[in-house]
Amino acid sequence: MITLTIDGQEVSVPEGTTVLQAAEKLHMKIPTLCYLSLEQIHYKNQVASCRVCVVEVEGRRNLAPACATPVVPGMKVITNSKRVLSARRKNLELIISNHPFTCLTCLKSTECELQTMAWEYDVQVKYPNGERMRHKKDHSSAALFRDPDKCIMCRRCETMCNEVQTVGALTAFGRGFATIVAPAEKNEIVDSPCVYCGQCVSVCPTGALIGHSYVNQTWSALFDKTKKVVVQVAPAVRVALGEEFGYPAGEIVTGKMAAGLRRLGFDAVFDTTFGADLTIIEEGTEIIERVTKNENLPILTSCCPGWINFIRYYYPSLEWMPSTTKSPQQMTGAIIKSYYAEKMGWDPKDIVVVSVMPCIAKKYEASLPNQEVNGIRDVDYSITTRELAKMLKEGSIDLRYIPEEDFDSPLGESTGAGIIFGSAGGVLEAALRTVYEKVTGETLENVDFVALRGIDGAHEATIDLGEKQIRVAAVSGLGNARQILDKVVSGEEKYDVIEIMACPGGCINGGGQPYAKERDKVLKARMEAIYQIDKTDTLRKSHENPEIIALYDTFLGEPGGHKAHDLLHVKNFDESVMGEWEHD
Ligand code: SF4
Ligand code: SF4
Ligand code: SF4
Repeated sequence: MITLTIDGQEVSVPEGTTVLQAAEKLHMKIPTLCYLSLEQIHYKNQVASCRVCVVEVEGRRNLAPACATPVVPGMKVITNSKRVLSARRKNLELIISNHPFTCLTCLKSTECELQTMAWEYDVQVKYPNGERMRHKKDHSSAALFRDPDKCIMCRRCETMCNEVQTVGALTAFGRGFATIVAPAEKNEIVDSPCVYCGQCVSVCPTGALIGHSYVNQTWSALFDKTKKVVVQVAPAVRVALGEEFGYPAGEIVTGKMAAGLRRLGFDAVFDTTFGADLTIIEEGTEIIERVTKNENLPILTSCCPGWINFIRYYYPSLEWMPSTTKSPQQMTGAIIKSYYAEKMGWDPKDIVVVSVMPCIAKKYEASLPNQEVNGIRDVDYSITTRELAKMLKEGSIDLRYIPEEDFDSPLGESTGAGIIFGSAGGVLEAALRTVYEKVTGETLENVDFVALRGIDGAHEATIDLGEKQIRVAAVSGLGNARQILDKVVSGEEKYDVIEIMACPGGCINGGGQPYAKERDKVLKARMEAIYQIDKTDTLRKSHENPEIIALYDTFLGEPGGHKAHDLLHVKNFDESVMGEWEHD
């Protein structure tokens, strides 16, 4: 342990700790725009580029960046001297003098870390007459919007994309003032290997990287009296939406959310968790077939479009590995426009399906040419948790003051198994609850596969299916996915079933979730809330969902049958999609 003082207060920390981390131990928050640490996923951005965290260290002539200065015994640090505050203000002024003054219309306004810090440090910048960045805005993708003029070169996105996700879509180009973080050759994002996981959006401190918003299109649909507008909400949204209304992280706002959506004017409010249960029936059928025949193993889950994009780009030869089931978002959309439309006597062409997702990649998925049935799109617009909060606020709806309501029927009933899709390991756990009972014919008494749960990296287990044992793994974060796939390809490891989610920790940490200041704590709280809902649900196995049973009995026929295939399965490596992913 090393003992030092910060602003006269003594603190002891392990060797290797930085001044910034030591200050956190004293509950002192040294400002920074570039540093970011997510302990649970072992991620750290420590490039010391913003120079806002500078501090004085006794005996040193120059100010030191707290994020990159390791503690030494007897060190005396001052964080709030006149010299420090003036240097921080000057550095902020320099950053802001090269920033577009568009805060009023910026999609990140009120949540921008640069904006908040400028206010906290009372930064006064006269409109600069000097040279400023002027780069083309990048509207090229259906999921991600880039405004390079708002980039402050903190490099968080680069670390996230290259080191955590191992995608390598963003990197710094140029020298000095002309430096820009962009896809290779300053191409548009659509021409890069970006898989739209949205993790860069979650960590970008400014509005330089933002999810493509479909709020205006959703309002237009709601105001169009010729349309029936149906909404579906993903499991992870209900444990995060409350944060936008002042609730603590992990507050479960399911009923209030359903009520708020109804007040916005949606004709029906459905739960994507129903689609998650449906995914388990279809995917479970595939798992049982491949596992019992001992063929085409391992089978990989297919409900995360960020992950599916990753395998399309980096492992196209493994085309046969993922399940062919659509994601819960797309399944729910397809069932709304077929089964529900038929029940209601509505023409599917007049239905607009809006999905509320924790995810940026789902925007891309909804736009894909292969995600439609008979020329009718499964999902028309996908908005994020953040975008829903914005719509509710625009519509004068404060979740804190509205009574809870239920989802509509028949796509509103769900089980705990569907809910846990929201957290890493949940899809596999949900599948195992069904697969176990179908294969063994026995009741699964303990449904909690706790070994597969967790925000960090990879989890694996061996599951006894009566006469057969299977080896399974749940992996989140694309860097972890790459590691496990490389081992599978080389033959170093053998698995029967693997769940992969692009976002570290799964959808609770999706790129469309509310921005979190204390990310480690927030993710933990959201995850606990997901398992709390599951634990208290009266139904915890997807195949026990009565509305799913009725759907097969009255409409779909057999799981994995003809009709189910037409509506609920997709060729993920279809030519219409693969064009975009081909590379030299
Ligand atoms: S969305 Fe994901 S893959 Fe695309 S640039 Fe951001 S971090 Fe990289
Ligand atoms: S795009 Fe955002 S996260 Fe990336 S370097 Fe620029 S400001 Fe930082
Ligand atoms: S893990 Fe969830 S939020 Fe992240 S890309 Fe996949 S589906 Fe979207």
